[in-house]
Amino acid sequence: MRDSRPAVQPEWTVGDAADLYQVPTWSQGYFTVGRTGHLMVHPDAAPGREIDLFDVVEGLATRGIHAPVLIRFSDILAHRLHRLHDAFEAAIRENGYRGRYIAVYPIKVNQQRPVVEEVFRYGREFDFGLEVGSKPELLAVMAMTGEAGDRPIICNGFKDDRYIEAVVLATKLGRTIVPVVENLSEFRLILKHAERYDVRPSIGVRVKLSSAGAGRWSDSSGYRSKFGLFAAELLQVFYELEARGQADCLKLLHCHPGSQIQEIRALKEAVGELAHVYAELVEMGAGLEYIDVGGGLGVDYDGSQSVTATSINYSIPEYANEVVYRVGSVCEERGISHPTIISESGRAIAAYQSILVFNVLGSSGPTHALGDDLPSTRSLGDEDEVPGPLRDLLLAYHSVEASRLGECYHDAVQARDQCMRLFGLGYLSLEHRAIAERLFWATCLRVREIAGEVDSPFEELEDLEAVLSETFFCNLSVFQSLPDTWAIDQLFPIMPIHRLDERPTRRGVLADITCDSDGKIDTFIDPENRDVKHGLELHELRQGESYYLGAFLVGAYQETLGDLHNLFGDTNVVHIRVDGDGDWWIEELVEGDTASQVLGYVQYDAASLYPTLRRDCEKASKEGRMTVEESRALLDFYRSALDGYTYLLPESTAPVTGPVASPGGAVTSPESERT
Ligand code: PLP
Repeated sequence: MRDSRPAVQPEWTVGDAADLYQVPTWSQGYFTVGRTGHLMVHPDAAPGREIDLFDVVEGLATRGIHAPVLIRFSDILAHRLHRLHDAFEAAIRENGYRGRYIAVYPIKVNQQRPVVEEVFRYGREFDFGLEVGSKPELLAVMAMTGEAGDRPIICNGFKDDRYIEAVVLATKLGRTIVPVVENLSEFRLILKHAERYDVRPSIGVRVKLSSAGAGRWSDSSGYRSKFGLFAAELLQVFYELEARGQADCLKLLHCHPGSQIQEIRALKEAVGELAHVYAELVEMGAGLEYIDVGGGLGVDYDGSQSVTATSINYSIPEYANEVVYRVGSVCEERGISHPTIISESGRAIAAYQSILVFNVLGSSGPTHALGDDLPSTRSLGDEDEVPGPLRDLLLAYHSVEASRLGECYHDAVQARDQCMRLFGLGYLSLEHRAIAERLFWATCLRVREIAGEVDSPFEELEDLEAVLSETFFCNLSVFQSLPDTWAIDQLFPIMPIHRLDERPTRRGVLADITCDSDGKIDTFIDPENRDVKHGLELHELRQGESYYLGAFLVGAYQETLGDLHNLFGDTNVVHIRVDGDGDWWIEELVEGDTASQVLGYVQYDAASLYPTLRRDCEKASKEGRMTVEESRALLDFYRSALDGYTYLLPESTAPVTGPVASPGGAVTSPESERT
C-alpha cells in the first residue's frame, strides 16, 4: 500500500544546498556553502581563511568589471603546487626514495602570462620548471626564466631546425633545457646544432609504451600514439650517442600516458614499463638522471571518485605514492641509483584556481506560458466540436491523484501527441493547440507536485523533469569560455553562487547567447547517482536582481581552446589575492576583448568601419530618411559598441518583454528593471 499522506517539506538549509550541488565531493576543500547562503572560497582548502564569492562579484561590478568574468584565485594556484610537492615529499619519505621530485607545468594547459608567471613564481621554492610543446611556447618561456637557469624547461612536441637551434643556444645561455626527441629526425637536428655550437646537450627521449593509456586521451600512449620512439629507435639513439662518446648526454626518459587518467591501474602499468626502460638504458651506460612520467594526474570534476570520464579513482597522494614506489622498486631491483622524478602535471595544478561567473539574463519554459486560467470543459465550447484528444487531455488533468500518477501522465502524453498530429494534418486550430500544450504542462506539473508530496516513487520523474525544465539564458559563450562542454561533453560543477539559503524551485538547462543551438549546457554532474542529470536546480528569477551562476574547476584548457563563435571574445579576467583576514584585492585585471578587437581578429579594419557608417548616416540625413539627432544616436551607439565588451552589460541589456522564439514559453528577465 502506498502512503499517500502529504509529506511536510522540511525547512531548507545551506547544508541542503551543499548536498544538492555536491560541493564537498568536488571542491577538495576550496569551496563551501557559507551561512549567508553565499559560496565561499577557501584558498588554503581549510576552513580558516575564506572569501565570499558573491561579495567579490558585486565588488567587481561596482568597479565596472561585469559578468561574465573569469576569477582566478592565485592563492589556490599556489596551494595546488604545495599540495603536489607535499604529496611527493611524503611519498619519497615513506618509500625511502633517494631521488627528488620536480613538477614541470605544461603551459599549454593555460598559457596566460599571469598564470605561467605565477606558477613559476610560486614553484620557485620547489625548483619546479615549465614544459613547452611548440615554438611560440618556447619563446614565452625562454624569456621568462632568466633568473632561474637551473629550473628545468622540457621541450615536447614536434620541433623543426630553428626550434632545435634555439634550444641548443639556450643551453649556452645557461638554461637547463631538455629537448625531448619525438622522432629520429629531431635527434639528428640536435646532434647537428650541438656540434655546430660546441654544446654538450641534455637530451630527452619519449618512449612509445606498450601499455595503453586510459580514459579519453588514451591514444596519447601505446604503440599507436602520435609521439615517441619505438624500442628499436630508442636503442638506435643510444648506440649512436655511445659511438660519439656522448652516452652521458641522454639525460631524460619520458612518457605521457594521456591526460585525465581515470584509473590508477593505467598509471601503475605505464610507470612500471617506463622504469624498466630507464633501468635498462642506465645499465647499458646512458647518463640518465630524470624519469619524466608526463601528464595525466586527473581532476575529480564530478566528485564521484570513480572511473567516469570526469572523475578519477585516486587522490594526489595515491598518485605520488604509486609513481615513487614503482620507480623506486624497479631501481632497487636493478641496483641503480634513484633518478629525479618529473611529472608534467597541468590539469591538476591549473583547474581549481579559476571560476567563471556569469549572470542569467532570463528564463523560458512551460510554466511561464501556462497562464492562470486553465480551460474548463465548458469553456472549450460545444462538446461535439472539441476534438477527442483535447477532451482526453482535460480529463487527464482533472483526474490526477496520488494513486494513478503514472496512468494520468501516460494518458496526457498520448493525448498531447494525438493533438499535435491533428494539428499537423490541419484538423486542430492554433487556439486548440495552445490549450492542448497548456493542459499537458499543467498535468505534468500536478503529477510532479503530488509525486513530491507523497512518498511514492514515480519512475518517469526524469522524463517529466525534462518536459518541465526551463531554459535559463546565460550571459556567456560556451564556445569561448567552456569549450570542452561542447566539444567533448566535459562536465564541470555549475551552481548558483548566492541564494543558497533558499530552496531552488526551478529546474533548467542553460543556453548561452550565441546563435548556435549547440551553445547550451544540458548535462550536469550527479555524483550521488554516479551519473549525469539533465536539469540543474535553480532559483526563480527576481525582477531587478542579478542571478549569478559559477562554473568551477575551469582553469585548465578552457581559455586556450575557446574560440570566437559569434565574435564573443575573451571575458574579463581578474586575479584575486586574499590576506590573512580574508580581505581580498585585485592583483591583476585583464579586460575582456572589445568588439573592435574581435573584429580585428577576423580581418576587419575597425578604424575604417566608423567613418564608413558615418558617411552613410550623413547621406541618409541629407536625403531626409533620418534626422541629424537620429543619425547622431546611431553613431554614438556604434562608436561606444566598438570600444565595448562583446557580452551583454547591465546598462545595455534591453528588457526582454515578450515571448522569444524559443520552444515552450515566454521569457522573464530579472535584469529588465535595471535597464
Ligand atoms: N605532457 C604532455 C606531453 C601532454 O601532451 C599533456 C597534455 O595532454 C600534458 C603533459 C598535460 O597533461 P595533464 O593536463 O593531464 O596533466
